[in-house]
Amino acid sequence: MTSPSPDVLIIGGGIIGAACADALSARGLRVTVVEQDVVGSGATAAGMGHLVVMDDNEAELALSAWSLELWREFVAEHPERHEYSRCGTIWVAADDEEMAAARVKAKTLTAHGLSCAMLDAVSLYEREPQLRPGLAGGLLVNGDGLVYPPKSARLLMDRAVARGAALVNGSVHHVNADGSVVLADGTRLHPGRVLVAAGSRSAALVPELPVQPKKGHVAITDRYPGFIRHQLVELGYIKSAHAASGDSVAFNLQPRPTGQILIGSSRQFGTTDPAVEHAMMARMLRHAATFTPALANMNVLRCWTGLRAASPDGLPIIGPHPARAGLWLATGHEGLGITTSLATAQLVAAQMCGEAAAIPHMPYLPSRFSQMRHAHG
Ligand SMILES: Cc1cc2nc3c(=O)[nH]c(=O)nc-3n(C[C@H](O)[C@H](O)[C@H](O)COP(=O)(O)OP(=O)(O)OC[C@H]3O[C@@H](n4cnc5c(N)ncnc54)[C@H](O)[C@@H]3O)c2cc1C
Repeated sequence: MTSPSPDVLIIGGGIIGAACADALSARGLRVTVVEQDVVGSGATAAGMGHLVVMDDNEAELALSAWSLELWREFVAEHPERHEYSRCGTIWVAADDEEMAAARVKAKTLTAHGLSCAMLDAVSLYEREPQLRPGLAGGLLVNGDGLVYPPKSARLLMDRAVARGAALVNGSVHHVNADGSVVLADGTRLHPGRVLVAAGSRSAALVPELPVQPKKGHVAITDRYPGFIRHQLVELGYIKSAHAASGDSVAFNLQPRPTGQILIGSSRQFGTTDPAVEHAMMARMLRHAATFTPALANMNVLRCWTGLRAASPDGLPIIGPHPARAGLWLATGHEGLGITTSLATAQLVAAQMCGEAAAIPHMPYLPSRFSQMRHAHG
């Protein structure tokens, strides 16, 4: 079979692959995306779509804050197509210790030029009367928002295809040392570069990649318009979200523009079984109801799971493979890949095209892991 020769072949049409296709095609590169399922069907479909600035470290803050700027520009023309809402996030502080954590967060975000406001208990209940009594307060982050991720992925891919990018429905079986790519049906492609954006399945193609799946459960309710107005996240979330092992649940509630409430989320290592686990779902829902008790009387319509791709240091892995020429990576985005997709794509495109990006690319390079530096093709 004659094979096309794109400048860049992207493996995976999730939000990361779609954003990269968009950014690379915008620079005039010939792009082919190989997706084994439908665009935006992996973790991208499972994710909550919360666009949130995270500040566990400088690199995470720089990437998420920049990406949020890019999101606000991207959705500006047709916010309804993304089901976008600039709902803001309230980080809920249960006690004085968490209020102290909220103040530290406020200081960091303010120093970075991000708009936020400390809420005492009175202002918290004014904004969110459904929260249980006795909470200490919280931090409101104004620029955060939400999208419906599979739709946004589709819009990014459509824009790339309109510029001439090809979308191939197929499964990549392996990537050869010479940079050629072999599909499950035997088709061999010879791109200039290969970009692996296969989410939690990336390590199946690049075994030395230090990413492991982190399973998450999510549930969505019937329509209860106005029940909550902001994305509500417990400050304790920060501890559970970054645990390197063990199962955890955290209170994370989202008001969908439809009036539905999206309830997250759980984190589990050591499983790739997509089945909804009733014990984990029950634990997550019970925990959510300790924050918003009226939730216990609501109808849950649907629940599902997804696999995040977790890297050892919690930062995504973006850039050239240090030991395999022509192979590039954009994966390991864990629970923040919807938020950080657009900045990820700009970092990839800037590095491929020899441009300077708005933030340094160093903290995200695959070469920070010794197993990547010492890999063999
Ligand atoms: C429960 C949950 C909640 C989340 N909530 C949020 C949130 O609120 N905010 C946020 O920012 N992030 C959130 N995330 C994280 C976010 O969803 C992911 O980081 C992001 O979707 C990763 O996108 P991706 O394109 O790397 O992976 P995916 O969306 O998984 O895409 C990878 C694609 O590659 C394809 N693929 C894999 N292997 C092959 C192959 N061999 N050949 C061809 N195609 C292949 C797959 O079919 C898939 O479509 C959440 C994740 C989960 C699981």
